[in-house]
Amino acid sequence: MLTEMTNTQMRYIILALALAMGIVSAQAQSQPANLIPAPAEYNVHPGTVSRDKMNGSHEKVRISEKAMLRRLEGRKLTDWQLKSAYWLEVGPKGVKIEAADQEGVFYARQTLRMMAEPDSMVNCCTVLDWPRLRYRGMMLDVSRHFYGKDFVKKQLRMMALLKMNRFHFHLVDNPGWRLQIDTYPRLTQLTAWRPQAYFWDWEKNEIGGPFAVEGTPGAYGGYYTKEDIREILAYAAERHIEVIPEIEMPGHNYETRAAYPELACSLPKGGKDPWELCPGKEHTYEFLENVLLEVFDLFPSQYIHIGGDEARKNNWKVCPYCQARMRAEGLKDVNGLQSYMIRRIERFARAHGKRIIGWDEILQGGLAPDATVMCWHGTEAGVQAAKEGHDVIFTPTHYYYLDYHQDPDQYRPVGRCVTLEKVYSFEPVTERIPEADAHHVSGVQGNLWTEHVQEEWHAELLLYPRLFAIAETGWSQADRKSWPDFERRASALSAAARKWGYRVY
Ligand SMILES: [Zn+2]
Repeated sequence: MLTEMTNTQMRYIILALALAMGIVSAQAQSQPANLIPAPAEYNVHPGTVSRDKMNGSHEKVRISEKAMLRRLEGRKLTDWQLKSAYWLEVGPKGVKIEAADQEGVFYARQTLRMMAEPDSMVNCCTVLDWPRLRYRGMMLDVSRHFYGKDFVKKQLRMMALLKMNRFHFHLVDNPGWRLQIDTYPRLTQLTAWRPQAYFWDWEKNEIGGPFAVEGTPGAYGGYYTKEDIREILAYAAERHIEVIPEIEMPGHNYETRAAYPELACSLPKGGKDPWELCPGKEHTYEFLENVLLEVFDLFPSQYIHIGGDEARKNNWKVCPYCQARMRAEGLKDVNGLQSYMIRRIERFARAHGKRIIGWDEILQGGLAPDATVMCWHGTEAGVQAAKEGHDVIFTPTHYYYLDYHQDPDQYRPVGRCVTLEKVYSFEPVTERIPEADAHHVSGVQGNLWTEHVQEEWHAELLLYPRLFAIAETGWSQADRKSWPDFERRASALSAAARKWGYRVY
C-alpha cells in the first residue's frame, strides 16, 4: 500500500503520527507563540522573515474602509468593531497593514510586536482580526495605596499590547483622595496623606485612622495634580485607551468627611456609619456637582463612574436632613434615598454630556435607563441589568478580583483563590441573558483593589498573567478561546513581559 501513496498523502500520515505523539501540537500551528489575545484568523504561509523586517521601515500601511470591508468578505461587524479591525500580512520583504481606521493600524502593530518577540525569525502569515467586546478594562485602586504616574503609564503600555481599551481609575476612597480639585483644596492637603503607609495599619475594624497634613515629615500618600492627569490622559489616548475616572458616592467617603465634616449626616456623636455622605443636605449636591464639573473638564471620557456601592444607610434613618428629604420627595425608605441621589447625579451628568457607570448596587430602588451597571456581585445582577436594558460590564469577584491570590500557596489576606485558569473560564455573554439583550454586554474588567498591595512589584504580580486572560476574553472571538493553547501562549508572553521589566507571577 505504501508504495502507491503520493508524497502529499505521505506528509499527512507523518503529520498525523507527529500530532498523536505530541511532537507537533495542532494549536502550535494555529496561533503564533505568544500572541494574546488570539486573533480571529491566522494563517501561516511558507517561509520566515527576520524581526528587523517587521519594523516601521518595512511597513506598508493602507487606511481604507472599503479595502477593509473587502478583506472581511461580508462578515457583519458593528461600526466600533470595524474601527478596531485590521488585516496584516507578514511576508519575506516586510509587513503590510490594512485597516478602516488608525485604531486598527495601532492594533495590527501590537500584534506584530508580540509576534516578533521570542525569536529572531517569524513565520510568514496573514492575520484578520477584530474585537468581540467593546469594553476591555482594567481598574486600579490608587486610594488604599498610592501609585505614581510612571507606574500607571507602565500598566497602560501593557494594556495597549493586550488590546485593552478602558482604564478605570479608582481615584478616591476612604483612605485617601488622589485627585487635585481646585474648589476643595483640603481634599488633597488634608486627606491624601496619612501617618501609616500600610493600609491595615491605618484602618482597624473598618474605622479609618487619622490623616496627615500635606508636607508632614514621614507622611505616606500622594495625589495626581491636574498636570499629572493630563499627562496620563495623553499617554492613554496615544494607545487608544479611554480613562474613566471614579468619584465615589454616597458610601466610601470617610476621607471626604474628614476634609469637609459638614458633608456628613447631622447626628449626635457622628452616627454609626463612618463612610457615608448625607444625601439629605443640599450642600452635599453642591459639593458633588462642583467636584464633577472639574472632573468633566479634565477627563474627555463620555463616562463617569460614580461608585454607588456599599452604602450602609443607617445614619440616614435618623438624620433629620435625610428624613426631611425623604418626606419632601415621597421616598418610602433609605434605598429610595440612595436611588434619588444616583438619579439626581445621573441627570446632572447627562446635562453635561456624560453618562454614568456605577457598581451594581445602583440598581437598588430603580435606575435611569442610560446608566451602565458594573457588575461585581457574581453575575446575577448583570443578567438582571441587561434584561432591564442597561449596558453591563462584568467584573465578578470570584473571577476578576485581582487582589485575590492566584495560587493556593500565595499570601492570602483577602478573598479566595482565583487561578489563571479560573479567570480564563469566565464567559460574559451568559445564556441566561436573552439573545435580544446580549448587545447590552459591553465587556469585562479586571479589578485590582489594593488594601494589601503596598508595593508596585506586588501589584504587577497580581495583575500578570491574569490580565492576559481577561484581555483574551474581551477581544477574542468565543470560538478562538482554548485553555491549553492560552496556557502555552501565556507562558511565552510572561517570559517576554519579564524581559520588558514587568513582574509576572
Ligand atoms: Zn443625612
